[in-house]
Amino acid sequence: MVSVQLLKLLSVASLCCFIPLAAGAQEKRAAAAKLLTLQKAPPVYVRNQRDKSKWPGMVREGVDAGREYFGNYGPVFVYILGHEDKRLSSEAFHRRLVAEYCKHRGAGVKKRREECRDGPGAELIKKAISGRGDAYLSFVGDTDPPLAELVFINPHQFRDPYLYTRGIHEYTHVFQRAFPSTPTWMTEGGAEFFACYLGEKKGWAKLRRDMAKFMKNAQRAKDAKLGIKDMEDVDEVSPAVKKYYRHLAYDAGAWAFALMIHKSKSRSIAEVPKKFYPLVAKVGWQRALAQYAQVDNKQAFYRAFDAFLKLPLDEQLKMLEGLKE
Ligand SMILES: [Zn+2]
Repeated sequence: MVSVQLLKLLSVASLCCFIPLAAGAQEKRAAAAKLLTLQKAPPVYVRNQRDKSKWPGMVREGVDAGREYFGNYGPVFVYILGHEDKRLSSEAFHRRLVAEYCKHRGAGVKKRREECRDGPGAELIKKAISGRGDAYLSFVGDTDPPLAELVFINPHQFRDPYLYTRGIHEYTHVFQRAFPSTPTWMTEGGAEFFACYLGEKKGWAKLRRDMAKFMKNAQRAKDAKLGIKDMEDVDEVSPAVKKYYRHLAYDAGAWAFALMIHKSKSRSIAEVPKKFYPLVAKVGWQRALAQYAQVDNKQAFYRAFDAFLKLPLDEQLKMLEGLKE
């Protein structure tokens, strides 16, 4: 735990030392609201340089596909750990990785760095050694500026080419973090949609095929009488609903995201980052959803999506063809 006084001290210290005087008003507002911003510097990668396997490169290519499309948001730190060749998971590498990881979280305070090393840092290493694959964005809001960590653990456990699109998915979350929060189904669904859409452009995914697969899963949640309205905040749902986290947030979410674009005036995918997310910043996600999808309110959108789920798959897939670049 960090005392309030220490936090106060930290924020004073970071105000005087980390925000350059020339920072624009927009940047200052973003820092106050704990949002990521456009950056000059590319993501910083922390990984084992002796790892010559294809996996770290796949992560980077996926992340870069996201940066090309959305812009270079951040600051982002990418951590890659856990190796197929167990010799690479050495203590020396783990020590270095945790030191780097905790340097940013500790904000120059030794005690906080130590807490990080023994807490989340040690947890990371445990996961790496377990051999299980995992990838996620972790948002660190108590640093100034806030930052995003993209953590890829045992990336070889992901399929090729799936790891590429997972990179896009996680980077989409970086972009989303430059705007106020959206419901879980829209956050995960949007990341899945862009992973398929941008992944197809790179030859890593097939939008139609992958979305058809998502629809199958989405229907399973429907059979359980659950909908995306039940997945606005995954941290607040009951265990019975959480069982359908994947189906509701990712699978149904990707389709709901596509439907939102289809119901928009332009039907343009490229307009989503340019117009929809700034609208979220302006009026909040509920009004943004209603305005953008040209419906009365979010309930009307949920009803439209429920009706859409009842259509035959052919017609659902036809909707995707109606989307513009
Ligand atoms: Zn995600």
